[in-house]
Amino acid sequence: MKNSDIQAIQLLLSTPKKIAIIPHRSPDGDAMGSTLALYHFLLKLNHQPVVIAPNEFPEFLAWLPGSETVFIFEKNKENTTKILQEAELIFTLDFNALHRVGEMENVLKTLSAPFIMIDHHQKPDDYATHTYSDTAFGSTCEMIYNFIGFLGQQNLIDKTIATCIYTGILTDSGSFKYPKTTGRTHRVVADLIDLGVDNSEVPNLLFDNHSYNRLQLLGRALQNLKVIPEHRTSFITLTQEELDTFHYVKGDTEGIVNYGLTIKGIIFTAIFIENKDEKIIKISFRSQGDFDVNQFARDHFGGGGHINAAGGKSDLSMEETIKKFEDLVTKL
Ligand code: 5GP
Ligand code: MN
Repeated sequence: MKNSDIQAIQLLLSTPKKIAIIPHRSPDGDAMGSTLALYHFLLKLNHQPVVIAPNEFPEFLAWLPGSETVFIFEKNKENTTKILQEAELIFTLDFNALHRVGEMENVLKTLSAPFIMIDHHQKPDDYATHTYSDTAFGSTCEMIYNFIGFLGQQNLIDKTIATCIYTGILTDSGSFKYPKTTGRTHRVVADLIDLGVDNSEVPNLLFDNHSYNRLQLLGRALQNLKVIPEHRTSFITLTQEELDTFHYVKGDTEGIVNYGLTIKGIIFTAIFIENKDEKIIKISFRSQGDFDVNQFARDHFGGGGHINAAGGKSDLSMEETIKKFEDLVTKL
């Protein structure tokens, strides 16, 4: 982050302010971890922070400290719009283009308060007054740890803040195994554990705390897994009907996409999840090695993300979407 940005932000934070902190729509562990870490940090600096998520966050993140204070824009538009309009400073975390907040974008576009973006995705838009964007990082949470350090406030990181940061590092790194996990990531994590993070309990709460229905849904997803061996590709589909059968709740499909890459020789995988309410197929892409799924998602499915993990969507039916995907794969 540029020194001039740090100094400007130090000045902004030198007097108590109403501050809105915003994760992307359908927030994941990194989005919720980073926004809540910053929330607890700003509270300690005597600001009045509030996290406003565009829509509901998944149940498996509901144990995060402070999650009970999070406002949901799509459930309470009037109230949250008012909070946004009164905010003197806006942080947008774990995304870099305003369309990632869905309908909330219409409100954000009208605000005159300064924006600060902290994010690790490719190709940031330039809506923010101050931008800390770096694709070298595996998570926004690791950047939040740095950000607090840049401000000279490292000593304010306590167990609560550390737990939020740890959560995002853990979830976005695939439990420390994705390529952007560095020695430094582990040194940050070591510090977080020294600050009191329970590194047995947190993974347990995140990954081993599922409902029976979720496991049955995973079973169905695995049975739906198809392989295109000649293109080293696999994909999974889940229709709305299948989600309904297993009483799907938000978060139940998290991580399922990764199974497609666990087959020997497969380097590209996708999961297609029907959402009848939003009339879309939500897609997640994963790759191993050089194949850039961020570019693939941008070019063909109105999405984006990182080289090895990206998402997008399709307005076509499930059948048409799969046909489009298969056609694209055979041309790769
Ligand atoms: P996931 O597949 O886990 O939902 O997302 C993988 C990565 O791609 C995440 O970093 C996420 O923020 C990003 N991503 C997911 N969906 C979209 C999308 O529709 N548009 C863009 N630009 N990025 C996405
Ligand atoms: Mn992230």
